[in-house]
Amino acid sequence: MYDLLVIGSGPAGMGAAIYGARAGMELAVIDRSPVSGGQVLTTYEVDNYLGLPGMSGSELSDTFRAHADRFGVPFMTTEVEAIEDKGDVKCVHTTSGDYEAKAVILATGATHAMLGVPGEMQLAGMGVSYCATCDGAFFRNRTVVVVGGGDVAVEDAIFLAGICKKVYLVHRRDTLRAADALQKKLMALDNIEILWNSEVTSINGEDMVENVTICNKVSGQTSKLEVNGIFIAVGIIPNTDLLKGIVEMDEKGYIIADETCQTSVAGIYAAGDIRKKPMRQIITAVADGANAVNAVQSYFIGL
Ligand code: NDP
Repeated sequence: MYDLLVIGSGPAGMGAAIYGARAGMELAVIDRSPVSGGQVLTTYEVDNYLGLPGMSGSELSDTFRAHADRFGVPFMTTEVEAIEDKGDVKCVHTTSGDYEAKAVILATGATHAMLGVPGEMQLAGMGVSYCATCDGAFFRNRTVVVVGGGDVAVEDAIFLAGICKKVYLVHRRDTLRAADALQKKLMALDNIEILWNSEVTSINGEDMVENVTICNKVSGQTSKLEVNGIFIAVGIIPNTDLLKGIVEMDEKGYIIADETCQTSVAGIYAAGDIRKKPMRQIITAVADGANAVNAVQSYFIGL
């Protein structure tokens, strides 16, 4: 019987692991991937994590993992299939067996959202990508389009501008959601062209992406943009299926929990991108991990 099982080894899970280990809890981290880091692993550069500016996502993940290893945190690589609330005991069912704990912190992060247009599924991996850092190198000196206006879309466009001949950024509104610092970097690059108030309505090509159809929402005009690849960065979907029907969630599937990360079920906590909150950043995910452990400690002593 563990005191605490942490599910997910992204920033929130690692934050929880370090705080839990330092609090002397008998704990383990479960992740389906043997490589810790979650979404950060596919981030090209992280420039806003306190004290570690300009690190690549994989370097930052390695740093988090080394920190947890220093405290002897055990990691298990297995897929969690279900979490069962048995009152004072939580049972975590995995593909390699069942594990019991007094408390569980779910930190399973989020997955990229799809655009949902014709051609997207058919051409996935053949010019349609959701990860610029993973696939950008295939498009050296070629022309690509990035869809979205958030941090990820703008980061991807900046990254791809360093590899590709030309990068179009297609955004459905006339202002970007991305952080100001990122927007400034974006605007300074001369091989990026932003198509405002525009949507990709289909992705076209036989065996590879050849062009995309763009609709300008203001003029109503459609046009074809000749590109070799499309990078879709239109947001994230929380990985909260494990707790569906167990804890309260909002209409988008984010778990409802306040800053203590306490869900509607005693002993189950939600940390990081899966929690309903105003700002999803690495630093806020790490903070969630720490806050969740603090709440677990209070729970253990009946506060
Ligand atoms: P966001 O939700 O921030 O942005 C999604 C973007 O996609 C928005 O511009 C949105 O448009 C657009 N969009 C959504 N649906 C569609 C659609 N169907 N068609 C066209 N466009 C669409 O998601 P991100 O993936 O960029 O970021 C996820 C989270 O991760 C954010 O909270 C972000 O801040 C965080 N992050 C943190 C980092 C860090 O800590 N350094 C680094 C990268 C990301 P609209 O603006 O009109 O809604």
